[in-house]
Amino acid sequence: MSKLIAKAAIRGAHRYFTQAKKELEQAVVSHGPEENIGFPNTAYHLPLILALTGMEVKTLADAQNALQYAGKLLPELPADSLWLPYLGHTLDAGIATLIAEEIIEALKYFNGYEPQEPWLGFTNDSILRTQGIKLVDGRMPGFAACVGALPTNEQAVELARSFQERSILVFMFSSSGGKSMAEQLYEEGIEMNWDTYLIPYGKDTSAAVYALNFAARAAMTFGGIRPGGLEEARKILLYNKERVHAFVLALGRDFDPGQNGEQVITDEKYATAAGAINFGFPVIADSNIPQILPRGICTYEHVVSGISLDQIVNKAVEVRGLKLKISEIPIPVPYGAGFEGERVRKEQMQIQFGGKYTDAFEILRGLPMNEVNDGAIEVIGPDIDNVEEGTALPLGIVVEVAGRNFKEDFESVLERRIHHYLCCAYGIFHMGQRDIPWIRVSKEAFQKGFRLKHFGEILVAKFHDEFSAIVDKIQVKLYTDTAKVQELLKQAKEVYYQRDERIMGMQDEDVDTFYSCILCQSYAPNHVCIVTPQRLGLCGAYTWVDCGASFEMDPHGPNRPVKKGACLDEKNGIFDEVNQYISQASNGNLQQVSMYSIMVDPQTSCGCFEVIAAVLPETNGIMLVNREYLEDTPIGMNFSTMAGEIGGGIQTPGFLGIGKLYISSEKFVSAEGGIKRVVWMPQQLKEEVKDRLQKRLQDIGEPEFLDKIATEKDATTSEELLEFLHKVNHPVLEMEAII
Ligand code: SF4
Ligand code: ZN
Repeated sequence: MSKLIAKAAIRGAHRYFTQAKKELEQAVVSHGPEENIGFPNTAYHLPLILALTGMEVKTLADAQNALQYAGKLLPELPADSLWLPYLGHTLDAGIATLIAEEIIEALKYFNGYEPQEPWLGFTNDSILRTQGIKLVDGRMPGFAACVGALPTNEQAVELARSFQERSILVFMFSSSGGKSMAEQLYEEGIEMNWDTYLIPYGKDTSAAVYALNFAARAAMTFGGIRPGGLEEARKILLYNKERVHAFVLALGRDFDPGQNGEQVITDEKYATAAGAINFGFPVIADSNIPQILPRGICTYEHVVSGISLDQIVNKAVEVRGLKLKISEIPIPVPYGAGFEGERVRKEQMQIQFGGKYTDAFEILRGLPMNEVNDGAIEVIGPDIDNVEEGTALPLGIVVEVAGRNFKEDFESVLERRIHHYLCCAYGIFHMGQRDIPWIRVSKEAFQKGFRLKHFGEILVAKFHDEFSAIVDKIQVKLYTDTAKVQELLKQAKEVYYQRDERIMGMQDEDVDTFYSCILCQSYAPNHVCIVTPQRLGLCGAYTWVDCGASFEMDPHGPNRPVKKGACLDEKNGIFDEVNQYISQASNGNLQQVSMYSIMVDPQTSCGCFEVIAAVLPETNGIMLVNREYLEDTPIGMNFSTMAGEIGGGIQTPGFLGIGKLYISSEKFVSAEGGIKRVVWMPQQLKEEVKDRLQKRLQDIGEPEFLDKIATEKDATTSEELLEFLHKVNHPVLEMEAII
């Protein structure tokens, strides 16, 4: 252990402690100790403090207690001659630093300074659930916490790109020489948000706590670790070391007049790094700071320094032992999940297809073996370089596959992947599916040589890569000829229609087998979704047909057929063989589950529900809230708080996680009276489900009912809601008591 680093870290910890103490005292003086403090939309209070100490900080006084605890951990300020051989002191200083930093950042919210563009500040629980799970289940190999800045903006962009290509999340905070990497990307017009894997947390070094309290919440949420004392804190840190593959990149140095104008790493950064090492996150630096190589808390080196910038990504991946799957696809632009959510703005656009501008569609069909010429890619009509910049062309993407084990039912499952595959190419924007895709190619991608045939290259490579068990041959045709697109679009619509009819027309009564999905057991170990023709999985991604196809493609995968067996209760939808299956698949935690009730043995919820349905006893009705809605609901809680209460694979009568499509199903909580029980949903959700729901309401002879469902515009509390329900004479007022 270098005594230089230890001393610097301890000095930095003392500085943060003093700063937090002073700012906290000021806040107490002006607002009183009982004033609330916290981050927006989280059930975890100040999450890092909760994780490390078990203390629930709700008020300024609580924060003072937490800081006092940090004070006890603070090692004495080292005298110059003191030799500190043990990592232990430094690690304690790191924990004390994190506690002080979290209070400093929370005070910024308290004082109304946060967050400021382009910084995102605190990550709320709803994002944690959708993004954190990818870190824990391996879809994202890890995250890189980038501290400081690069010598030039170009290098910053290059570094960001190389992480995006590897699907590694980039958290950015702190600065070096007055500049931060996020500011460099911002100046270059790079889009930074969760969809592009680039997260600018804050310019101060203390903003590091946002990355660490994200990691700590991942352990509490997905690892099911309840915070408490030291033992739990140790578990949370271990969980991170094992499951959240993260590392810190210390970039650049600071100019410090106190050190004879030399370039240095600040004490504050050393103190924060000591905090990160507690999580098992190693530090990789481009400058020559002292290394810490022995293996202790990290199963690998703690600090590796002097790595040149072009080697730094590889080194980080190697030190942290990240498992990367980089697909080799013959296209002239980078490819990876990090580019999935990237948009191409109008000014950046070379060409576009579909959307509201032209006809476009995409379809995947199975053909006999001899009709598919593997790898063949054909462009029919003008290519991107045959038309002027800014043009909108029609586009038909026809993917034809053949395989000995291929079935027609697989078509829609595979077709849905087209979106996912295409939008992972850098400079390509893709939205929608079937006959509503909207695609843009950026000028930059075009200048690098991207042409239509490259869509084909991506699809051929990816389908081979991921579906080799059922697909032997793939060919792709790309049509931009207007007449041809129109003709083929008509045929495609006929196919979509037939497919919908198959599942839409299907009733649960028509089948003797449902499907299970246990994909989410990777983090909610007792959770099971039972998917029926009239009720899709709560994440919205798996219909009964999809589960069937997925089972055929991979019989050892997450979806299994489940025989219904004898019906024990028709109204609630309880079946004896489903019960038998659920008891075994939930590891004995559940004995009975109903298909159609929110009150009687409802299905469990993992955490990825699109919508939460909740009984509002005082109205005798049910409210719905979608994940995107962040405000409080009439039940007095927001989505993320509710999600925290009902997730994790438990049955919670009165609450149900559901997929959006289920809302317009005939079997939607039919045991409690179905759609007529719904009293409230956010406006945005209403818009989204309107078309299908309107059709369903026509069918039951209630075409006006949609207006009787309140939104946040009509009511935000249960009192206002009740008033509204009386005003519109909502049917729940007459229905039998739900509880
Ligand atoms: Fe499967 Fe249910 Fe998880 Fe969706 S929510 S992936 S259906 S277990
Ligand atoms: Zn889930």
